[in-house]
This record gives sequence, C-alpha cells and structure tokens, in this order.
Amino acid sequence: MKKIVILGGGFAGAYAAQALEKTLRKRDDVEILLYCRENYTVFQPMLPEVISGTIGLTDVVTPLRRMLRRTHVHVREIESIDVASKTVSVAAGFKPHAHVEPYDHLIIAPGTVTDFRGLPGLPEHALPFKNLADALELRSRGTVPATHRHSAATRTDGGRPDRQPRLSRRQWRHRHANGVHASGTGGAACP
Ligand SMILES: Cc1cc2nc3c(=O)[nH]c(=O)nc-3n(C[C@H](O)[C@H](O)[C@H](O)COP(=O)(O)OP(=O)(O)OC[C@H]3O[C@@H](n4cnc5c(N)ncnc54)[C@H](O)[C@@H]3O)c2cc1C
Repeated sequence: MKKIVILGGGFAGAYAAQALEKTLRKRDDVEILLYCRENYTVFQPMLPEVISGTIGLTDVVTPLRRMLRRTHVHVREIESIDVASKTVSVAAGFKPHAHVEPYDHLIIAPGTVTDFRGLPGLPEHALPFKNLADALELRSRGTVPATHRHSAATRTDGGRPDRQPRLSRRQWRHRHANGVHASGTGGAACP
C-alpha cells in the first residue's frame, strides 16, 4: 500500500486531496492522509464579508471530513519533516506521545504566516488579517449592527434621539439583504 501524506488543509492541501481522490478512485492500493491543525478549510477571499457582517462565519468554512470522503483527515500540529527517513512528526494531540507518520509521497501545503519583521510601527498599529481568528477580532472591534449602535451614536442632546429612526429587526434584515449596512449611523470603526 502506497501512502500519500498531505500537510495543510487550506486551498492547496484540501484541493490536492480532492483531486487525488478523483484521479485515484479506482486504485485501492493508495492511501491518502491529510494533517492540519484545523478540521475545516477556510475560503479566505470572503473573510472581509465576515468582518462586515454580510455573511456568517459558517459561510466561509467547509469541514474537511465532509469535503474529503476517502482521505484520512488528522487534526494535529505538524512539527517536523525528515526527508531522509521519509517521515513526518506530528504533535501528540490527545494521545500520550508524538506520532511519526511514514510516507511514500509528500505534499507540503502549510500556507504562509503574517510576518511584521522589518516593518517598524506595524506590529503596534496594525492587526493581522489572515485567518478566522483575525477576522473575528476585527469584526468585534469594527462593526456593530446599526440597530445596536444607533442609540449611542445618534443621541446628541442629552438623551433625546435625533431624527434618525431606530430600525426594527425586520428593517435591518431587509437592509442587510440588499447590501446596505449601518448606513447613516457612522461607518465601520476599523482601527
Ligand atoms: C483576506 C484574504 C483575501 C484573499 N483574497 C484572495 C482572492 O481574492 N483571490 C486569490 O486568489 N487569493 C486570495 N487570497 C489568498 C488565498 O486565500 C491564499 O493564497 C490561499 O488560501 C493559500 O492557500 P494555502 O493552502 O497555501 O494556505 P492556507 O489556506 O493558509 O492553508 C494552510 C493550512 O495549513 C495549516 N497549517 C499550517 N502550518 C501547520 C502546522 N504546523 N500544523 C498543522 N497545520 C498547519 C493552516 O492552519 C491552514 O489550515 C486571500 C487571502 C486573504 C487572507
């Protein structure tokens, strides 16, 4: 039995596994394994919409095990690759010790990381925007639905609301569906 090990479950890793499943559908002498720290793949190009609130978190994630029927998906931290012995070491996870996975073919697709090195001022004044956690952090800082923000943002006379009408839940949903967000009550407050 030949073993193909894929490292990373992002665009590259997940779609490589999907393509291999298709190509090797008639081969039962090949095993496909995928290691990733998450059990889902993220459609990063739509993360800005998660921040703005146009779409929900679950709209940009796809569970790897649902997407890949034949591939053995392991949710583990990849620690090292030993090319000489053709093995990959992965963190212990719930098991008591680290695991060493032998492979015949290896696909390395761990993506990239945000690197602020050599860019003075950026670590203090910018926020990374790469994964789901980053998007959630930005969303929590920057956008509040108009219905929530309205009273605080538009009261200018010691408590009496100005002429901006407070939106009902239905009106908010209607605006949301038509791509109008928080209009008239101040823009998003991204840092
Ligand atoms: C906001 C945003 C918008 C974008 N818009 C576009 C666009 O419009 N068009 C376009 O073409 N591209 C776009 N991109 C870029 C595109 O999303 C990336 O190029 C693509 O996701 C890279 O895929 P990847 O598989 O190489 O890496 P990733 O998708 O980052 O996947 C890597 C995976 O490996 C896992 N991993 C890494 N290291 C380890 C480890 N040690 N142990 C276990 N798991 C590990 C990660 O957790 C991750 O799940 C955008 C990116 C962002 C952030």
